[in-house]
Amino acid sequence: MKNLKTLILALALASTLTFPIPTLTRANNMNSPKQVESEFPWIKEVANKLESELIAKHGETQRARLQQGIKQVASFWRAEDGDKEVFEQFVKEHFAGDQATLDELFKRFEHNLEQLDGHMHEINREFRNQSDLDIGPIMPFDDLFAGYDPSAHFIDDFFKNKLAFVVLLNFPLTTLEQRLNEGEKWSRRQWAETRLAQRFSKRVPAEVNLAIAKVSSESERYISEYNIWMHHLIDDKGQRIFPPKLRLLSHWNLRDEIKASYSDANSGLAKQQMIQRVMEHIVNQTIPEIVVNNPNVDWNPLTNEVKKAAVKDFEGDGKVVDNPTNTPEPNTRYAQLLSTFQAARKVDPYSPTAPTLIARRFEENRELPEARVKAMLEDVVSSPLVAQTAKLIEARLGRPLEPFDIWYNGFRPRGSYSEAQLDEIVSKHYPNGEAYKKDMPNLLVKLGFSKERAEYLANNIEVDAARGSGHAMGASMRSEKAHLRTRVEKTGMNYKGYNIAVHEMGHNVEQTFSLNNIDHFLLQGVPNTAFTEALAFVFQGHDLELLGLAKPDSKSQALKTLNDFWATYEIAGVALVDMTVWHWMYDHPNATPAELKDATVKIAKDVWNKYYAPVFKKKDVVLLGIYSHMIDGFMYLPDYPIGHLIAFQIEEQMEKAGNIGQEFERMAVVGSVTPDMWMKKASGAPVGAEALLHATKKALTEINLSNAKAEK
Ligand SMILES: [Zn+2]
Repeated sequence: MKNLKTLILALALASTLTFPIPTLTRANNMNSPKQVESEFPWIKEVANKLESELIAKHGETQRARLQQGIKQVASFWRAEDGDKEVFEQFVKEHFAGDQATLDELFKRFEHNLEQLDGHMHEINREFRNQSDLDIGPIMPFDDLFAGYDPSAHFIDDFFKNKLAFVVLLNFPLTTLEQRLNEGEKWSRRQWAETRLAQRFSKRVPAEVNLAIAKVSSESERYISEYNIWMHHLIDDKGQRIFPPKLRLLSHWNLRDEIKASYSDANSGLAKQQMIQRVMEHIVNQTIPEIVVNNPNVDWNPLTNEVKKAAVKDFEGDGKVVDNPTNTPEPNTRYAQLLSTFQAARKVDPYSPTAPTLIARRFEENRELPEARVKAMLEDVVSSPLVAQTAKLIEARLGRPLEPFDIWYNGFRPRGSYSEAQLDEIVSKHYPNGEAYKKDMPNLLVKLGFSKERAEYLANNIEVDAARGSGHAMGASMRSEKAHLRTRVEKTGMNYKGYNIAVHEMGHNVEQTFSLNNIDHFLLQGVPNTAFTEALAFVFQGHDLELLGLAKPDSKSQALKTLNDFWATYEIAGVALVDMTVWHWMYDHPNATPAELKDATVKIAKDVWNKYYAPVFKKKDVVLLGIYSHMIDGFMYLPDYPIGHLIAFQIEEQMEKAGNIGQEFERMAVVGSVTPDMWMKKASGAPVGAEALLHATKKALTEINLSNAKAEK
C-alpha cells in the first residue's frame, strides 16, 4: 500500500512538524565541553557564574537540571546566536527555576506547537492537492507547490529566535538507551517533555530539508505515473490476455493483479507469468521506455518487441508514436533512487550520533536497533515453517511453485471470489467516494466500535479521490480532520480501491484517536510507522467481512494466519533488499544509476538465492526488487514486515479482548513512546516474531489435520 505521504515525508526529513519523530541523542551527541570551550572560551566562566547565581535564587534542587540545561544550550550555540552577554542574559531570563513556571512553559509550548504543526500541515496538504488527488492534469508548477514544505525552516527559525534554546535549557535530551531502560518508569508528562526536547536535538539547515522534500516529490511523481497498459501486452501467440482499458500502476496494481489471477482458472497462470516478465523488465530496466504509461504501443515482454498499438482502448491522443523502438528506460528508476540517497545524506553532517539515513531510520524513527530488526526478519525468512507452508501451497495449486507465488494469496477466503465478482459487489456498494464516506459509520460499527464512536470517527475523516493508489493523511491539530485518499474509477470503486480504502481508514482511525483523544499533544501518534501500518492491517484483514462476504471459522482463521505468514515472508525479503541497497549506496556514494542498477539486481538475487531459492527451486530471481517504495520511500520498507509482526501481536490481543473497537482505541491513545513499551502496554510483550511463528505453527497443524480428514 502506498503510504501516508506525511509519514514518508516525516521519515525523510530530519525534523518534522507533522509527526513527532523520535531522535536518538547520546551525551556525546553534543559537542564535548572542550569543543565548546575552544569555540567560546568564555563558556566555562559564564556557566559557573550562572550556576551560582541561579542556584542561589531557585535552590539546590535545581542544580542538576540547570547544569544539563546550560550544557545543552552551549552545545547548540553558534557564534551568530550571540556573545557572552547574550548567552548569559538568555539563560537568566529563560531558566524555569520552579515547578509552576516550568508547568506554564511546558503547557504553552505544547499548545503553540500544535498550532504550528497543524497549520503547516494544512498548507502542505492543500499545496499537494493537485499532485495527490484525481482532479485533472498536473501542470509543471504543481510539482513546485507539492515540493514546497512550509515547515522546512521551522527548526532553523526556532534556533534563531531561541525558542529551541528555551526548550533545551529546560528539558533534558535523552539517549535511546535511557528511553529503553528508564522510560517505563517515566510519567506521561516526562514522556511528553522527552519528545519536546527531541524535536530540537538536531540543527539541520533549512535548505537541506527543502532539498529532501523536492527530491521526495519528484521521485514520488515518477512512481505515481508508472502505469502499464495491460491490453497492450502481447503474448507469444500474438494474443492480448488482459482486457481493454486495464491500466496498472507498478508495483502495487501489478502485484495485486497477480494475486487476483489465482481465482482465474482459464488465463490466470498466463497472466501471472506475463506480469512477472514485466516486473523483471522494470527491475532490470530492460523495459522499453516507450511502453511506460503509454497505450499507443503494443509490447511483447518475452521478445521485448514494440509496435504501434493495433487497438485503441483509451480516450484522447496519448503519447503519439510513429516508429516505436524498444530503447530501454535509461535507468531512470535507479537515478531516482540515487537522488533520494544524495538528498538524504545531506543531513548526515548535522546528525553526529546517527550519521546515516540507515541509523536515523532504525535508532531514531523506529527506535529499534537495525540488528534487532534484521534478526526478526531473518527469524521469519529462515523459518522451517516456510518450507512447510510452501508444500501446502504447491498442493493447493497442483503445480510446483513459480517465483511470482511469493504473492500467493489463495489461503484467504477471498480466493473463492473472482476479482470481477468482487469488483461488481464493491462498485454497487460504492459508486463513488461519497458512498464510501456515508457508509463509514456502518463499517466502523461492524468492526466493533460503538455507534457513538463510529460517528465521531467518521466525522473526523474526509474522503478524497486519489491520483495514485491511495493513502491516508492525518491531521496535525485537533481542529483539523484526517483525509482518506482512495482511487475511485469512473465506473465506481473497484475491489482494489476498496481494499486499500479499508486499510487507509485504519490509519485514519488511529490518527484520529492518537491525536484527538490523547492526554498530551506532544505524545500524539504511535511509536513509529510500523504501528500505524499494523493497526491499518487489522482493519484491512476484515475487508471481506465488512462486505458481508466471509464468516471466519477456525479453519479460515488458520488460512488467514498462513496468508499473513506468507505475506510477511515475502515482504521481509523485500525489506532486506531495501536495507542492503541503502548500505550499498552508503558504501558507494559516487555510484552511477547503472552501477546502482547492477548492485540492486545482484542484491535482490542474493537475498532470493539465500532465503527463497531453496523453497522455490529456482535461482537468480529479481522480483524482490520491484517495490516502488524502494525508489521513493527513503528505506521505508522494513516497516511493512515489522508491521506484520506487530499486527499479529495486536490482532492476537484483540482476539483475547474480544472487541476491536475498544482495544483499538485503548492502544491508539498510548501514543508515541518506544515500540517495546507501547507493545507491552498493548499486549504484554515486546515487539517480536514469536507471535506470528507460534500462530503459524498452530495454523499448519490445523490445516494439515483438516486436509487429512478430507482425504479419509
Ligand atoms: Zn498503510
